[in-house]
Amino acid sequence: MGTRRSFVKKLSAGAVGIPLVYNSVDLYGMEAIYDGPILKVAIMGLGSYATRVAEAMQDCKRAKITGLISGTPSKIEKWKSKYNVPDKNCYNYEDFDKIVDNPDIDAVYVITPNGLHAEQAKRVAKAGKHVICEKPMGVNAQEGQEMVEACKKAKVKLLIGYRMHFEANTLEVVRMRKEDEFGKIIFFQGQSGFIIGDPNQWRLDLKLSGGGAMMDIGIYSINGARYMIGEEPIWVTAQETKNDPVKFKEGIDETIQFQMGFPGGAVASCLSTYAVNHLDRFYLAGIKGFAEMQPSTGYGPIKARTNKGDLNFKHITHQTVQMDEMAGIILENREPLIPVNGEEGVKDMKIIDAIFKAVKTGNKVFLQ
Ligand code: NAD
Repeated sequence: MGTRRSFVKKLSAGAVGIPLVYNSVDLYGMEAIYDGPILKVAIMGLGSYATRVAEAMQDCKRAKITGLISGTPSKIEKWKSKYNVPDKNCYNYEDFDKIVDNPDIDAVYVITPNGLHAEQAKRVAKAGKHVICEKPMGVNAQEGQEMVEACKKAKVKLLIGYRMHFEANTLEVVRMRKEDEFGKIIFFQGQSGFIIGDPNQWRLDLKLSGGGAMMDIGIYSINGARYMIGEEPIWVTAQETKNDPVKFKEGIDETIQFQMGFPGGAVASCLSTYAVNHLDRFYLAGIKGFAEMQPSTGYGPIKARTNKGDLNFKHITHQTVQMDEMAGIILENREPLIPVNGEEGVKDMKIIDAIFKAVKTGNKVFLQ
């Protein structure tokens, strides 16, 4: 698509005074000369997070919205004029398999309720398009694995919307840990939560959500523990508290405290909750040093400090960086520092399955 000129115009206006943040993201220093391939993305599910993603994608240089999939015609009308998407690239949930014949779409970003992800992602893969899917990738590890296999079979990529994997402060902490600046890691603390509003929303409906706070926000502490420590957990223990059983029905967790043990000897202690606002903190302790991030996974700016001082990487809208980097992964086979592929998503889902089992049984659950 002849989109380069508009990108250059938009980005050069927004680029003034914004420095290069980290090596793999040359978004703001290089856009004037960018003449490479552009990932043509259809957004599926035009809800609140999709709205944020779409706004952010206006500043992308490698990714562009070229298609829309929604069950609500009025949303299609609004979005199509805002993002200049032609009628022929707009679909609903019944007919979107027809994207198979549409060269204007390379990938579909699935931003619907969790319980719909697996089926929708598999249909996208079957239509021969790459899949970008929001977290959690499904409602359990089996669904995640099926999505991985479907994408493999269709020879398309599957990426999960882990935006923190491209955030500059996060990447610096991971770099420091990899270079042993904190020494042997002993402890991680992850706290993730907010107070959920409307009791009738899909997030509190087991079929559509797959669980409560854990699926939605606790997953950040699980995923964060893994990239901060740099290992995969070998066991979990977990305890649930529920103060409002009317709002949080059977299968919908309000608050879960959980622990994970890592092969190198580190332990993570985490809290996932729908009952506390502004809970967004990571703390990583090694024998030589520490990293603290608060907020650690919100939309930013992320605030991070280590025993060596504050980290001050410039805030860039997470979803802009994420989508430009994902375009690089899909179109140029780039390898991100922290993976965002389907297998990475399945690892989190296996841990969530184990946490739910630990809550139910009261036992320590070992992971393979
Ligand atoms: P939302 O309710 O605002 O949007 C969901 C969209 O899906 C709506 O447009 C809705 O119309 C559509 N939809 C299609 N079928 C539906 C059905 N059967 N029931 C209900 N809605 C249906 O939700 P959201 O906050 O945009 O979350 C969507 C996904 O994005 C979730 O998987 C969530 O975990 C994820 N998310 C990720 C982040 C992040 O930072 N990565 C942030 C928020 C949400």
